[in-house]
Amino acid sequence: MESTTVKREGFRRRSPGQPICWKNSVLRSPSMPSFRNELSINDQEIAAALVGEERRQQDGVELIPSENYTYPEVLELLGSVFTNKYSEGYPGRRYYGGQQYTDEIERLARERACSLFRAEHANVQPLSGSPMNQAVYLGLLEPGDTILAMDLSHGGHLTHGAPVSHMGRLFNFIRYKTAPSNGGAIDFDELRAIAREARPKMVLCGYSSYPRDLDYAAFKSIADEVGALTMADVSHYGGLVAANVMRNPLDAGFDVMTTTSHKTLRGPRGGIILCRKENAGRIDASVFPGLQGGPHMNVVAGIAVTLKKAATSDFQVYARQVLRNAKVLAGALMERGMKLVTDGTDNHMMVVDTAASVGLDGRAAEDVLDAIAITTNKQVIPDDPRPPLRPSGIRLGTPAATTRGMGEPEMRRIGEFIAAALQANGNDVVVARLRSECVEMCRAFPVPGVMSRANSVAKT
Ligand SMILES: *Cc1c(COP(=O)(O)O)cnc(C)c1O
Repeated sequence: MESTTVKREGFRRRSPGQPICWKNSVLRSPSMPSFRNELSINDQEIAAALVGEERRQQDGVELIPSENYTYPEVLELLGSVFTNKYSEGYPGRRYYGGQQYTDEIERLARERACSLFRAEHANVQPLSGSPMNQAVYLGLLEPGDTILAMDLSHGGHLTHGAPVSHMGRLFNFIRYKTAPSNGGAIDFDELRAIAREARPKMVLCGYSSYPRDLDYAAFKSIADEVGALTMADVSHYGGLVAANVMRNPLDAGFDVMTTTSHKTLRGPRGGIILCRKENAGRIDASVFPGLQGGPHMNVVAGIAVTLKKAATSDFQVYARQVLRNAKVLAGALMERGMKLVTDGTDNHMMVVDTAASVGLDGRAAEDVLDAIAITTNKQVIPDDPRPPLRPSGIRLGTPAATTRGMGEPEMRRIGEFIAAALQANGNDVVVARLRSECVEMCRAFPVPGVMSRANSVAKT
């Protein structure tokens, strides 16, 4: 677009391409998407970090199983005018005016969530996964109540009552575990015995680090026996539940299901609570005004779009490929002598016992893989004898790589890269060769919403 000379008093004259400034603050630019130019003029440090992060995401394989690349449309909505709006309350009953469009997006997001997950009620306002779970505990239980949840080293999440979390102090969390004798699966006989003894008010399942699907009917029957509520936190694999490639706890009659919107669902960062009608009022009041103030309506708009996409056949294809890729990656690693917790995976993730496989703790393994442009995270294994910052393993997952279009051939190569790097014994020549092969492979798989911008910036 032709640049125009701004004559209003107080504006500096500028040459073509330069943004319009009032003193030092940018008001508007005639040529979008020149926000990049404005940013690079006004805040070079942040502009450089943004370009650096885009290159990092483009050039490396992202195997952290909780991460993903969101849709370009969602990136657009996150940076839209919906971020300007305060919408405390719920559609049709807000505390501020001007809600005709925000009501519409939140109504659509809730309807889409209910239809996708076969739920009676949905709340899409939690600012992320942690406040989402807090809102459920605080809304349905009383402080001091007992919650039976999965042991953290066996795969449970921090918000499932880790001693360092506030919820861990507020509620009485007790633990069930997986059993090595049972192939690493949950031991329901033990779980039933603990539940009979402790009489919990809630039985909680779901995990951040466990490579198998769950038998929700078994949890439900134990909870019914002791009169406990049932809650499943499918934060990690909500997208796989949406696509019906993993079981849906609501089908087994669970009272509450929570999921983040940004992991396998591929949406913006947020949380979704799904529950029965009878608990809808308590859940909604617990999110707002119980725990939060104004919802982030730019995120709610992104969640609505994400949920529409998650109902398509394209998303089913994606979800199936996530699982196939995980099986192929797990197989490639095991063929090369890597020991996996439960010896494989049925979902999108796997935990490699690097200490047992190659004598490296998880932190050292994470560093070696970082050096070849593969991002993973250190991970405790069940009853890990090592400390959390130097645990026995690493956790890998396929949702992000699959979003980029990587398939089974790439998974086999990534398995080779990982095994070779972990077995390289710090040999710099091997590490450098693996890195360049890995980066070259990545360049053939653009990161959605990032590639073009990184390129256009690179050209200027
Ligand atoms: C990621 C996760 C959460 C928390 O999500 P944040 O958005 O990081 O707060 C909660 N529960 C489980 C099981 C998770 O995996």
